Amino acid sequence: MNADDRSRPDVENRDERSLEERLAEAERLASLGRLMARVAHELNDPLDGMLRYVNMSIRCLRDGQADRPVEYLRRCREALIRMAQLSGQLLEFSRRSHSRAEFVNPEVLVEEALRGIEMRFTPPAAVKVVRDYGRDVPEIRAGNLYQVFSNIIKNAFDAMDAEGELVVTTRVEDKMVTVAFADTGCGFAEDDAERIFEPFFTTKPDGQGTGLGLAICREIMERCGGKIIGRPREGGGSVFTVCIPMTGNTRAVDSR
Ligand code: ADP
Repeated sequence: MNADDRSRPDVENRDERSLEERLAEAERLASLGRLMARVAHELNDPLDGMLRYVNMSIRCLRDGQADRPVEYLRRCREALIRMAQLSGQLLEFSRRSHSRAEFVNPEVLVEEALRGIEMRFTPPAAVKVVRDYGRDVPEIRAGNLYQVFSNIIKNAFDAMDAEGELVVTTRVEDKMVTVAFADTGCGFAEDDAERIFEPFFTTKPDGQGTGLGLAICREIMERCGGKIIGRPREGGGSVFTVCIPMTGNTRAVDSR
């Protein structure tokens, strides 16, 4: 640290962070780097479009045609909205606040994510959240799991529209801590079970989905040696299961 840095609180904090916290951040940034290449590609199309419409508007205005540029500007606005959504989602992922190295009970993290979603979006009025938290589930390393849970819950609320039920289950299965989110929403076709994790795959109306959420979730889970699986739910809806391997990522409850 040089003399100038010492007066900067952010630099001091960085030095005080534990190795685990720095590793968690390095993991997040590596994931972000991989996604950036795809995002740069995705941003190129609206940028190209905007450039074209701006040039066409200039030409029209020079020729004294004042009507057409209004439509061109509308299209530019749509492109800008899409770009703002993409960068907003990436910014959320790049924020440091929820990349935590400490151990927490998975149900505490689920509750935090539910509260976070309810603060940012109005959940559908008649959606019931049912908690089925298992006993003796070990604490898990929080890492970026908050973001994974938030994204799954937000998708579930989106899928349920006006009413439905979201059942959250925590268990220990096959040396994994599993957190399952089962909703009674619109569901998805069995054939799309893998496609929904591809970057930019979205079935949401324009302006509501970027298709980045589940791709980021998968990236986060793979980096911690875990996985995320999405399946249509029997009787309608979907089930998203997050599996966290016990080795290194968990701590038995009685050692708290
Ligand atoms: P986005 O929410 O921006 O569309 P995601 O990557 O989070 O991006 O989700 C991709 C797609 O997966 C969604 O557009 C939707 O088609 C499908 N999906 C995700 N979660 C659910 C759910 N709970 N029920 C039905 N479909 C879902």
